[in-house]
Amino acid sequence: MRDNLTVAAGTLLDVQKLRAEFPILQTTVYGKPLVYLDNAATTQKPQRVIDAITGYYSEYNSNVHRGVHYLSQKATAAHEESRHKVAAFINAPHVHEVIFTRGTTDGINIIASSFGRKFLKEGDSILISAIEHHSNIVPWQMICEDRGANLKVIPVNNKGELIMDSLDDLLDETVKLVAVTYVSNTLGTVNPVKEIIERAHQKSIPVLVDAAQAVQHIQLDVQELDADFVVFSGHKMYGPTGIGVLYGKEAWLNELPPYQGGGDMIKSVSFKKTTYNELPLKFEAGTPSIAETIALGVAVDYLQEIGIANIQETEHQLYAYAVDALKTIDGLRFIGEAKNRAASISFLINDIHPFDLGEILDKQGIAVRTGHHCTEPIMQHFNIPGTVRASIAFYNTQEEIDQLVAGIKRAVTMLS
Ligand code: PMP
Repeated sequence: MRDNLTVAAGTLLDVQKLRAEFPILQTTVYGKPLVYLDNAATTQKPQRVIDAITGYYSEYNSNVHRGVHYLSQKATAAHEESRHKVAAFINAPHVHEVIFTRGTTDGINIIASSFGRKFLKEGDSILISAIEHHSNIVPWQMICEDRGANLKVIPVNNKGELIMDSLDDLLDETVKLVAVTYVSNTLGTVNPVKEIIERAHQKSIPVLVDAAQAVQHIQLDVQELDADFVVFSGHKMYGPTGIGVLYGKEAWLNELPPYQGGGDMIKSVSFKKTTYNELPLKFEAGTPSIAETIALGVAVDYLQEIGIANIQETEHQLYAYAVDALKTIDGLRFIGEAKNRAASISFLINDIHPFDLGEILDKQGIAVRTGHHCTEPIMQHFNIPGTVRASIAFYNTQEEIDQLVAGIKRAVTMLS
């Protein structure tokens, strides 16, 4: 269950101390202390991230990039400082390679549309994997349909691992881009993205990495990966909703046409001709999510302060504890048992419907997710309607896992 790319060994975090900074973790649900195990859907926010949002609105709310007045300059500086923070966090060679988006979905749609319009033609193909989130499937399907291109899929085995032996055959001359998730939100599988990138690059094919479930768990180094595009969401890394990041290699981003037109993305406009702005603004039409961008920078600072290696170590131990604890439940079977796994654990118990189990857990104050987790094709592969998914963050505890296990046992008794 450990990612091959683990850099430095981390030390265990003082979880109780860290939890104190998350107001929501101190609350109760139906009179029971909240046990929040739905972190793959979204993570909770530390007080400093919440404060950054209210601080912007109450102290320097103003539009960015085009104001000479004090407030606008202050907002612009804070907004752009976040870009520097993100660039350093993912080790981007250039700050202007960091494009602010609305989230992972938005980032993928930008590349699908811009890349597809420029480079895809009839008979070409895009290669994805069988364990992608809908947001890394549907935008590609849409552009393929538009351009007369095909979607090809790296198959998965019954453990939830990609069948890497199939890659060389799949990477034929029709493939114009590979788009693959780093970590599966449903199965927890950590894909060998570095190897996929290397093998695609041997054939000069660019790769987009969906890092929505990776950036908060694994040190993301875009240069080490040599990824062409990387996308992720602020809200899954302790930041706000409505903000995300698209990293792209400068050469690619310069090559691609803009996604949306509007203010900020232009150099000059006349009715005859518009010239586009330089990176990153070329891909950032309109007023951005300013409070959210600034708060994302605060979330990045927070992650840097705690240390991703320490988060990884702490979560790795809890993950192993959770898997062992869940194994004690009669009739429980894991959906996804890849060798390298992180964060998400999917399971089913006998023929109990995941929704029924989820509802009973909810009444005990335990938040898990049930259903297909926006990965219907992988549900079809396993021939199941959905799973129960517990997904952990560094602030979860062994006591919470014990409560989950006890809650499941109680639910099973009620439902059997
Ligand atoms: N990809 C993966 C692997 C995800 O887990 C998610 C969110 N569940 C997304 C993409 C989409 O992210 P967002 O909804 O924040 O755009």
